[in-house]
Amino acid sequence: MAKIIRSQRASTSSVRSAPKKKAAKAAKPLPKRAAKKPATKAAKKVAKPKPWTAEQVYEAFDRFRKANPEPKGELEHLNPYTLLVAVVLSAQATDAGVNKATRALFAIADTPEKMLELGEDRVRDYIKTIGLYRNKARNVIALSEKLIAEFGSEVPRTRAEIESLPGAGRKTANVVLNMAFGEHTMAVDTHVFRVGNRTGLAPGKTPLEVELGLEKVIPTEFMLHAHHWLILHGRYTCLARNPRCDVCLINDLCRWPEKTV
Ligand code: SF4
Repeated sequence: MAKIIRSQRASTSSVRSAPKKKAAKAAKPLPKRAAKKPATKAAKKVAKPKPWTAEQVYEAFDRFRKANPEPKGELEHLNPYTLLVAVVLSAQATDAGVNKATRALFAIADTPEKMLELGEDRVRDYIKTIGLYRNKARNVIALSEKLIAEFGSEVPRTRAEIESLPGAGRKTANVVLNMAFGEHTMAVDTHVFRVGNRTGLAPGKTPLEVELGLEKVIPTEFMLHAHHWLILHGRYTCLARNPRCDVCLINDLCRWPEKTV
């Protein structure tokens, strides 16, 4: 027994003494030449991907067009008004989640007048499965009132007018102008933002930067459908976590250093 105690003490003391030696070693300053320098700005610049040429951009959208000549948005709607409401409801929600709620809602309220008649409480009940539904129900009623009071119950056709409606921002205006009125706008949602940055087509820190960058590089003949091609590409191929680079139509053109092909 006594022997065991001695050996435990000996072992404990050797464990205790070890960090002292290490600490002494760690305290010794490194020779200057061994210290690593942080990456310089110049080195980072070298790694910056080359911008796309006009031919490459054309090639990418030509491939999107051949694969899907008439891409469609996935938000269900019956007319410009229900499209506007669906887009307002889709903020921070999935299209599938919005569609689930709006099918029943639009069946009984597909005009601003019918929506007002339904009233905020019942609108809230219809959309309670969607995030931020209380605020959104309030906005749907308020925008319906404004459409009746100021726009003859019609969805206006200018960006400024659409953006003046409660709950509608720049992205809403871009989607409505594009889908309802065929304007060449580029709505930047989370998917388009990711694809614009990853591919190097239109890098930007904000959705507006990416939007303006894409409008600048995409040839006019593709602009009507470009928004949907990029959304669908981000939603089904260039996924946030595990992009499917192996089946990606533009994997040879993409500039993302982390692409898997
Ligand atoms: S190659 Fe990969 S990262 Fe690049 S666009 Fe295609 S899926 Fe996205």
